[in-house]
Amino acid sequence: MNDMREVEVVVVGAGQAGLSSAYHLRRTGFEPERDFVVLDHSPAPGGAWQFRWPSLTYGKVHGMHALPGMELTGADPQRPSSEVIAEYFTAYERAFDLRVRRPVDVRAVREGSEGSEGRLLVETSDGDWSTRALINATGTWDRPFWPRYPGQETFRGRQLHTAQYPGPEAFAGLRVVVVGGGASGTQHLMELAPYAAATTWVTRREPVFREGPFTEDVGREAVALVEERVRQGLPPKSVVSVTGLPLSDAVRQAIADGVLDRQPMFDRITPEGVEWNDGRHVDADVILWATGFRAAIDHLAPLKLREPGGGIRVEGTAAVADPRIHLVGYGPSASTIGANRAGRTAARDIRRLLTAERTAA
Ligand SMILES: Cc1cc2nc3c(=O)[nH]c(=O)nc-3n(C[C@H](O)[C@H](O)[C@H](O)COP(=O)(O)OP(=O)(O)OC[C@H]3O[C@@H](n4cnc5c(N)ncnc54)[C@H](O)[C@@H]3O)c2cc1C
Repeated sequence: MNDMREVEVVVVGAGQAGLSSAYHLRRTGFEPERDFVVLDHSPAPGGAWQFRWPSLTYGKVHGMHALPGMELTGADPQRPSSEVIAEYFTAYERAFDLRVRRPVDVRAVREGSEGSEGRLLVETSDGDWSTRALINATGTWDRPFWPRYPGQETFRGRQLHTAQYPGPEAFAGLRVVVVGGGASGTQHLMELAPYAAATTWVTRREPVFREGPFTEDVGREAVALVEERVRQGLPPKSVVSVTGLPLSDAVRQAIADGVLDRQPMFDRITPEGVEWNDGRHVDADVILWATGFRAAIDHLAPLKLREPGGGIRVEGTAAVADPRIHLVGYGPSASTIGANRAGRTAARDIRRLLTAERTAA
């Protein structure tokens, strides 16, 4: 193709994982635009944070880790995280001259064709790239997970996912069923309850609340569990899903107030609400699916990296089936601190791989 451009590394995604990777690629001697490019399909800096609801203020995301090489200081905890992080990422990209190309949608990554053996072909909304290695840092925001329940299409009210959550005011006077036992579900409920006419909380499994502080040991244990799944080629679970829900004062209060009064999953959806096999029924105007996200990796499908278990087997950050492909922010590195570390690992390992190839050639 005449618009084919060649680089050493393509980074897909400019969230925490992609920016950390780009930073470490620079540090290992790769030059932006000459040796690597960062492609992102969002309109502006900020990764998925730019799309998060305004009531998710910076003060509510306690676990946000700074990117490598530049602290995030003095942010007003009352401001929406979407603004704080977008500004921080903008400053970061500028400070390290990362030259993110956006909006560029990566549609498919496939094996290089004749004449480009050993290389990868990256097809995008803005032409093709030929690269020797690729860091996939596309997060999960673009793949909200909606479970299916009988009768779902008959519901007369509104159904929406966390990815579309507009903030609590939109639920004023409405009867809301919140589905999901993770951090988003509990946060939605606690925000909504003062506005809604009624709330019902349903989860598949009994939610696990974690007593005591979130120590480094707890974090390490959780990461090890997710890591083991990914090593086996199983779809990753979120790190948060294995740590349990932190029992903060606000959560304790919400339990005491009956806001976090969990019901088992309903069996079907009716035009008016939700229903259990034991005959119970709850009328609802809204069903809010806080049922999580999956890895946004469909564009990697032509490489056939998925295992029969449904996940991609990963050692460190490299796909076991193809060490040219690194996944950062996937599985055990799907947290802001994990993404930082994984970005360093990916950059270092790609440097080694490409140097070894050159030496062998
Ligand atoms: C509500 C919520 C709150 C959270 N709070 C915390 C917290 O407090 N602490 C914490 O550590 N973690 C938190 N997390 C998890 C957190 O989002 C991640 O740890 C981290 O921000 C993810 O970074 P990322 O770079 O992997 O993904 P993202 O921020 O999603 O970035 C991925 C980027 O890839 C781009 N992209 C995707 N597909 C393509 C494609 N095909 N082509 C081109 N570009 C593409 C997207 O546009 C996006 O910019 C939270 C998650 C959610 C949903």
